[in-house]
Amino acid sequence: MAVPKQRHNQSRRDRRRKNIYIDSPVLITCPKCGKPVLPHTICGYCGFYKNKEYINVLAKLEKKEQKKRAKEMKAHEKTEHSHDHEHEHSGKETEKH
Ligand SMILES: [Zn+2]
Repeated sequence: MAVPKQRHNQSRRDRRRKNIYIDSPVLITCPKCGKPVLPHTICGYCGFYKNKEYINVLAKLEKKEQKKRAKEMKAHEKTEHSHDHEHEHSGKETEKH
């Protein structure tokens, strides 16, 4: 069995280990509810992927939770709309100038 011939010092050990770490996961914000989700994955919060509902999230929740979540999603849709509007508006302004 191979046995280390000489002891590695701290800096050498740490140099070896500097690339041993876990990357933080890549997250995107869900276009439907705005929660951070993994890309190319159905959102676990609203059950949507590519503007299509794949999981009916509300069906599993209690009635109180259903209302709460439906409200949150609606609120996000409204903010999304205003955001789109701003983009259109700024685009028109640049055309004028
Ligand atoms: Zn979502």
